[in-house]
Amino acid sequence: MSTFLWESIAFGPIHSRRLGSSLGINLLPTDVKICSFNCIYCECGWTLEKSLTAREYYPVETVMQAIEHKLQETLAAGKAVDSITFSGNGEPTLHPHFDEIIDRLLVLRDTYFPKAVITCLSNATQLMRPEVCAALKRIENPLLKLDAGTQEMLNIINGPIVPVNIDEVVRELCSFEGKVVIQSMFLSGEKDGIPFDNSAEPNLSEWLEKIRLIHPRKVMIYSLDREAPAAKLHKFEKEKLEEIADRVRALNINVETY
Ligand code: SF4
Repeated sequence: MSTFLWESIAFGPIHSRRLGSSLGINLLPTDVKICSFNCIYCECGWTLEKSLTAREYYPVETVMQAIEHKLQETLAAGKAVDSITFSGNGEPTLHPHFDEIIDRLLVLRDTYFPKAVITCLSNATQLMRPEVCAALKRIENPLLKLDAGTQEMLNIINGPIVPVNIDEVVRELCSFEGKVVIQSMFLSGEKDGIPFDNSAEPNLSEWLEKIRLIHPRKVMIYSLDREAPAAKLHKFEKEKLEEIADRVRALNINVETY
């Protein structure tokens, strides 16, 4: 399969269905994906780098210069920015100075695009690091992943390459006191010859219970969109996603399907 990696620190703005005009930030190396998960559906491909510390991350100054340059260029071109968005080639919160980058970005945002929100797409595995959790609470739009309701399903779908305990992740997500958006991928398929379906029981009820506890500002439910690294994966159609969304609505929680 072909995989997709961003080739720069700052890119776009690009149009995003969920975020509008989104100026992207990639804090990871441009030649390899670095992530604490190895999701079967990752559009960056498999996580081949199994050490999270072996690679050098961009120095903070390099990151900030690239971002400021992109903000200046975008402003000069008269383009709109609705969201400044951390995504890129893996998990942004693995950057050892993520918290400092957030603080400095808040200042740059206020200077160049004060109406833009700061969004971070994150897999939530680093929430146990207090500085990461606190930094994510300082931005407007932490968009955190919860695909599974059980540890078993998390291990299948997300394939953590470091120990990740689902109950600890949920406990940290609860600490956002609702100021968080949860993004959840639903799909079925086969991994190592074993069939799975995270829309089936008992996973679905367990996931709903965790959503009830977290009580996020919004849940974003989606299914496969692009090519995934694993074969034998099945996308759910909108109708099926809406059935899951109705269960979330019954909890009085805002939900959208994509
Ligand atoms: S958390 Fe995101 S970047 Fe990491 S493997 Fe999963 S989909 Fe890919």
